[in-house]
Amino acid sequence: MKEEALWIKEKVRAHNKWFEECIPMIASENLMSPLAKEMLISDFADRYAEGLPGKRYYQGNIYVDEVETKAMELARELFDCSFADLRPISGTVANMAVLFAFAEPGDTITTCALAQGAHISTAKFGAFGFRSVNSVNYPFDEKSMNIDVDATAKLLREVKPKVAQFGLSVFLFPPPLKELQETFQDVGCTVWYDAAHVLGLIAGGQFQDPLREGVNILSSSTHKTFPGPNHGILLGSNLDDEQEKALHKAVFPGVTSSHHLHAMAALAVTLAEMKVYAKEYAAQTVKNAQALGQALNELGIDVLCPDLGFTRSHAIAVDVSAHGGGKVVSQDLEDANIICNKNMLPKDTSAVKPSGIRLGVQELTRVGMKESEMKEVASLIHRVVAKKEAPLKVKEDVKLLKKDFTKIRFCFNEGEEAYRFHELV
Ligand SMILES: *Cc1c(COP(=O)(O)O)cnc(C)c1O
Repeated sequence: MKEEALWIKEKVRAHNKWFEECIPMIASENLMSPLAKEMLISDFADRYAEGLPGKRYYQGNIYVDEVETKAMELARELFDCSFADLRPISGTVANMAVLFAFAEPGDTITTCALAQGAHISTAKFGAFGFRSVNSVNYPFDEKSMNIDVDATAKLLREVKPKVAQFGLSVFLFPPPLKELQETFQDVGCTVWYDAAHVLGLIAGGQFQDPLREGVNILSSSTHKTFPGPNHGILLGSNLDDEQEKALHKAVFPGVTSSHHLHAMAALAVTLAEMKVYAKEYAAQTVKNAQALGQALNELGIDVLCPDLGFTRSHAIAVDVSAHGGGKVVSQDLEDANIICNKNMLPKDTSAVKPSGIRLGVQELTRVGMKESEMKEVASLIHRVVAKKEAPLKVKEDVKLLKKDFTKIRFCFNEGEEAYRFHELV
């Protein structure tokens, strides 16, 4: 029925309008540039291109091949590395490809635990379990929200993993890769970095430079701090021919068939934009996150790691157990148009009733907010979380603040509406 289709369109339009009036702070989201978004409604969205450029299983890929070849080139340039595969359709699929290429069932992989901020793909009920690998968790220091270097070096020598994996979804501080390099070499493990949350920061020279700190293979989403389409990527350095082949093969035919050509093209556009804008964007993002942590802390809210400047990424972790816990607080904030998620902190045992919330500032940075706006955002959060003001009342002030920040920055169409609804019919 046409009415049903139009009803769907109205709902999507309503969502666009709502987010324009929101303060979106989910640490894994971002806004695509208008030029990148255009790629999503191109004919690329309707096509297949199994295989690699020049070696396809389908005809009709003349322009697809040119775009994907250029995209791979842009990725290798931006991240200064020798290997790129832009076909994984998400970060999780990229992780599955690494597991497929570099681990057999029963092999040991070291990683962080969920409560320490790891992603579900590393869990037994996620991709790690799907590949039936034996995962061993690093010793974690709750105070510094990072792995304990000495204890980790000891663990690596004991369990001798096939692969040592790093990267978190509550990713506040860079893991000590440089300090562990000698251990990696002695143990002879492959070093795998999951950059899903911090790829945009790495592109801009912030956080850390894993491909120059001993990492062999980097997997990532391309839509978190990296402001591209919902997609995935693999990047590598110091891989031999066989490893590169194994990775390509693991992506296709391993874990993908179609690789979402429209998203691949949108990713290529974003890579080109980030070559120009990543540095400034990433620096402002980290400054904003630290400013938000500082402002909330000054208002008496329990932001983790005050002694370490709260964060070196785009995100902060907040303990709201004194204010009703993560579930209640994140719902109240949503009612005030501040969108975030409840999150486990290292002390938690329940993912459903965690004591924390996670806040990311990358999208607010992308629409032009700076340190002074972070103070205003902190005050709005404080009113809902600690002062328990009626969320619907605070919502009006949220809308007022957001009104001046609806235009996209750090891309070739700077100044265009960021939450534009592309109307075709
Ligand atoms: C988000 C995330 C992923 C995977 O993300 P997709 O949603 O599949 O793109 C993988 N690892 C980490 C650490 C993440 O935070």
